[in-house]
Amino acid sequence: MKYDHQSIEIKWQRTWEESGTFHCDHHSDKPKYYVLEMFPYPSGNIHMGHVRNYSIGDVVARFKRMQGFNVLHPMGWDAFGLPAENAAIKHGTHPAKWTFSNIDNMRSQLRRLGYSYDWRRELATCTPEYYRWEQQFFLRFFEKGLVYRKQAPQNWCPKCHTVLANEQVIEGLCWRCDSAVEQKNLTQWFLRITDYAEELLADLDKLEAGWPERVVSMQRNWIGKSIGAEIVFPLENADSSITVFTTRQDTVFGATFMSLAPEHPLVEQLIDGKPEAPAVRAFVERIRNMDRIVRQSDDLEKEGVFTGAYCVNPFTGHRMPIWVANFVLAEYGTGAVMAVPAHDQRDFEFARKYDLPMQVVIQPEGDALDTAAMQAAWTEAGLLVNSGEFDGLPNDAAKQKIADSLEASGKGRRTVNYRLRDWNISRQRYWGAPIPVVYCDTCGVVAEKDENLPVLLPLEVRTHEDGRSPLPDTPEFADCICPKCGGKGRRETDTMDTFVESSWYFARYTSAGKNDGAFDPAALKYWMPVDQYIGGVEHAILHLLYSRFFVKALRDCGYMDLDEPFANLLTQGMVLKEGAKMSKSKGNVVDPTEMIARYGADTVRLFCLFAAPPERDFDWSDSGIEGSYRFIGRIWRLAEELSGVLMPVKACSATAADAATPQAKDLRNKEHATVRKAGADISDRFQFNTAIAAVMELVNALYLAKDELSGSEGGRRVLSSAVATALTLLSPITPHLSEELWEVIGNAGRITDEPWPQWSEEALARDEETIVVQINGKLRGRVSVPAGADAKAIEAAALSEPNVARHLEDVTVRKVVVIPGKLVNVVVG
Ligand SMILES: [Zn+2]
Ligand SMILES: [Zn+2]
Repeated sequence: MKYDHQSIEIKWQRTWEESGTFHCDHHSDKPKYYVLEMFPYPSGNIHMGHVRNYSIGDVVARFKRMQGFNVLHPMGWDAFGLPAENAAIKHGTHPAKWTFSNIDNMRSQLRRLGYSYDWRRELATCTPEYYRWEQQFFLRFFEKGLVYRKQAPQNWCPKCHTVLANEQVIEGLCWRCDSAVEQKNLTQWFLRITDYAEELLADLDKLEAGWPERVVSMQRNWIGKSIGAEIVFPLENADSSITVFTTRQDTVFGATFMSLAPEHPLVEQLIDGKPEAPAVRAFVERIRNMDRIVRQSDDLEKEGVFTGAYCVNPFTGHRMPIWVANFVLAEYGTGAVMAVPAHDQRDFEFARKYDLPMQVVIQPEGDALDTAAMQAAWTEAGLLVNSGEFDGLPNDAAKQKIADSLEASGKGRRTVNYRLRDWNISRQRYWGAPIPVVYCDTCGVVAEKDENLPVLLPLEVRTHEDGRSPLPDTPEFADCICPKCGGKGRRETDTMDTFVESSWYFARYTSAGKNDGAFDPAALKYWMPVDQYIGGVEHAILHLLYSRFFVKALRDCGYMDLDEPFANLLTQGMVLKEGAKMSKSKGNVVDPTEMIARYGADTVRLFCLFAAPPERDFDWSDSGIEGSYRFIGRIWRLAEELSGVLMPVKACSATAADAATPQAKDLRNKEHATVRKAGADISDRFQFNTAIAAVMELVNALYLAKDELSGSEGGRRVLSSAVATALTLLSPITPHLSEELWEVIGNAGRITDEPWPQWSEEALARDEETIVVQINGKLRGRVSVPAGADAKAIEAAALSEPNVARHLEDVTVRKVVVIPGKLVNVVVG
């Protein structure tokens, strides 16, 4: 009997598929469990990172099924997007053709790994059956004002030929291609995610128990709530005023000048007719074209220009010169900053450079700051000085008092500011879901009618070499009828950000195939939220924040009754090669297909799970995969050797009566201890690696005991039970091997349908335990004592052991240390 993984694995994959083993339905009395891995982008081939991600998910799915849950475990394709379009242009084919052929290939790779998906629920986001519902959501959002159009400077990737959301700019670079992002003024569609800033932040508290701390804190920082105050500074000799947002209202008496963003709408009015006007205009023009990311960086050289205008500090009554400064951004706060050079480092540097006044208003306790001698701003705590009625207050308390005073005097109010910006979802690319909007000369911006959905993405187009969208030059698409007046209209030719598709796919799986609505309410209610979500930490903000927002927005549009999509999140580590991320350019890619051909899917799965705890990175190693392959061979040979001996029994079936000899008792004890450990390791933090190690020990014990136990009926029953247990515990990890040997042994039914084994206290309890006896740390003997014997009884047994007793004849016993269950150490001298 040869271990022919190829034919065994394909045989079982076919059997599961044909019998619908992993199909699930929401009409069930069992408790539900929804486990989901982040769906792949159909780039062409499955890589080792996918294999690890999906193997983790598959063990969880199979384990939960064995524990009696009704498990939903689906798979699909994040199928719109730029890479497909770029690859299609490069290969002279159509993005649709490219995408669907990649999907076919990757689907067969996933099937070859034996994952327990309900394939009936498969979806691809680039099909009208999927994106039509997204267009419907857009219409509901439009009605509610949750989506709107505005012109603003946008992040533009010159290489990708499209705008990017703030979340898609990583340290100034495009998240996809690493090009430096530029600014471009465009009119775009935005989702009002900022309306949900407070709820997105508050609900993170609910996720703390089930999400990695790191992801929760990254989202908190990204939302960036700051509590502070708005303060109104009247203009000198004018009716208007400048409003600032600050978290440091305690320093308002130290505000000696005002800094405006070059884009601030007041700038033109302030300089009108003044001699400073030309210099200010030139400065504004220059800074406007500068990169915003650069403008926010700490090492930016601070620059500014005086407008010639003044405002008045509402607390001190002093005149404050108004400057335009390069580091102030129009879209953060109000685009105006009250400059407090003594207590803010940027303002300090600016004031030093342009010789602007400084005023200390916070003194560190036991110290006296002198503006002339200061080398840097004092930004720590202290007591207020030069602050009128607030002098002597600790600055924290002063924040409250000054906020009270602002509200009482009408000079300002308490307010909250967020770092989070609205989500720009317009993309100037072809391969995406059309935005269902029409522009009409008579009616303006008109949303499509529900009955006209889906707005189909035309497939008959000629893509441009440079990546420009062909949609504006496709009259069949762009020219249309205005849904309101019936006159001539022009369709929106931007498409939606593909992150819109991935923000709700997890909910669609519950209702896959439904064609008269986005969701089946009963199925959605039954399955959601996702109980365990698994994916890479690179989505900590992007996809995970968007999905959380989307669920809340869909809830408010009446689609679902749910606040959060993912109850628990596991961010798995990477698979490295020689310490580096696998990449084609480094030439260190391990191809899963090749590994499966050589070792089989079970070995690849086993190695990915055994190499490290799931959240840690691990290094691919040839000796590691060989080791996993050998372990599988060891089980195979054991079953082969015992083929005439093993009985068709289930896990943990041998009884105390069968286990008559000490060896039989030990093996049965080991069997139950392994069940307890593996179950605990998997349930608790998914420690598959230690669970596998425990089963390896059980297999070692089987090898040691097999000859002895094969001789008696009771012994054979104990052996058979332990083999059945090892196979059952491994079945979520190496399902094909377990299924095959289950059949070979002659068991009825399939191991995939077996419940997770139950250990018993009785089997774990031992009649006797062995205690090691040492004298001054040296091993001198072993004694058997009744299990649970007290320290006194153990000590007596140890000292009377013949060899120990002989060593103690001519010496003085100083101390006896007893560790019950383990050892006795006698200290002599
Ligand atoms: Zn790019
Ligand atoms: Zn019209």
